[in-house]
Amino acid sequence: MSTEYVLVTGGAGYIGTHAVVELLQAGYNVVVVDNLVNASMESIGRVEEITGKKVPSHQVDLLDKEAVKKIFQQYKISLVMHFAGLKAVGESVQLPLLYYHTNVGGTVNLLEVMKEFSVKNIIFSSSATVYGAPQYLPVDEKHPTGSCTNAYGKTKFFIEEIIRDVCAADKEWNAVILRYFNPVGAHKSGKIGENPQGVPNNLMPFVAQVAVGRRECLTVFGSDYDTPDGTGVRDYIHIVDLAQGHVAAMKKIQEKCGCVVYNLGTGVGYSVLDMVKAFQKATGKEIPYKIAPRREGDIATVYADPKTAEQELGWKTTRSLEEMCEDLWRWQSNNPHGYAPAPSSS
Ligand code: NAD
Ligand code: UDP
Repeated sequence: MSTEYVLVTGGAGYIGTHAVVELLQAGYNVVVVDNLVNASMESIGRVEEITGKKVPSHQVDLLDKEAVKKIFQQYKISLVMHFAGLKAVGESVQLPLLYYHTNVGGTVNLLEVMKEFSVKNIIFSSSATVYGAPQYLPVDEKHPTGSCTNAYGKTKFFIEEIIRDVCAADKEWNAVILRYFNPVGAHKSGKIGENPQGVPNNLMPFVAQVAVGRRECLTVFGSDYDTPDGTGVRDYIHIVDLAQGHVAAMKKIQEKCGCVVYNLGTGVGYSVLDMVKAFQKATGKEIPYKIAPRREGDIATVYADPKTAEQELGWKTTRSLEEMCEDLWRWQSNNPHGYAPAPSSS
């Protein structure tokens, strides 16, 4: 019998690389497709260093359906782990059509090719953003979705609905929709991590770039929220815990689960200032910051109810806030410019 592969779309990106490491270490064969719009194949080289395994990788855009088909012809694929997409909230507000075209259009192409090749198992990267402003806390999977205001979040909501419809129409399909809270940190090796292009939008990559001297000062968006210290509260989850949630989801799919949804979070909320303090303590680096007005579209507090994932996937987070900060710093200090070489000063 020929070898079966897990196809990882967006596998050269931040979450994809960490998931590929965990999949390989759990004994799965992996093939990666990525159009490299927000990544480089250097990250896959690092995954190979960590695991000692070769990862077949192809520069493929999901919008190029013929190229996607060729991958399904070349490999015997049993399941798709679908990370590929654009993820910058602010950019999605400016360029909504780009986001709908890439995220929704790319996913529809992928699902059509999967159907054509009778590959009916998918794990999809959704986001806590589908919940919008929480009506209650902690947020469980039954919380209403679809009220988020930015185009990025809406693409996640629409894709969830599309996957649900596909599963309803054909009971052979199985889908695990994973709603991530705030993934941070890096692999223990310090070889792979988050590599934002330009100014980081997210808190912890920004903090790490201040620590390494690439930025002067953190801007804290809002200190007048109804939270213990006035700054926004989120559920930060170590990237390796998150990646391991995907391996647990693989096992769920093998039970023929139909369409199921799980939060991946810790269940604990930390404020922006908690995160700054934890990072300073774990690394000994001072993080200068200034308080600025709230960022448009931000909410005060959100954190997960992770119980369903624990009960049904047998998965829960094990890594502490301290480890998130230490591992992030190991990655950032070993790779001050991410996967790129340092820019020459001449
Ligand atoms: P990332 O940008 O590092 O990874 C996404 C990858 O997809 C990139 O390598 C990019 O080059 C690739 N890609 C983009 N468009 C593509 C296309 N048309 N065809 C093929 N490849 C394409 O982002 P990430 O943080 O690793 O996120 C992975 C997934 O998880 C995304 O779908 C994202 O929306 C979702 N997610 C991320 C977070 C987060 O905070 N990082 C939170 C919730 C959900
Ligand atoms: N944040 C901040 N400064 C930054 C980036 C983020 O104060 O440079 C705050 C933001 O307002 C929110 C928290 O940090 O309260 C997490 O923001 P992030 O963008 O990382 O995640 P998300 O908003 O998607 O939960």
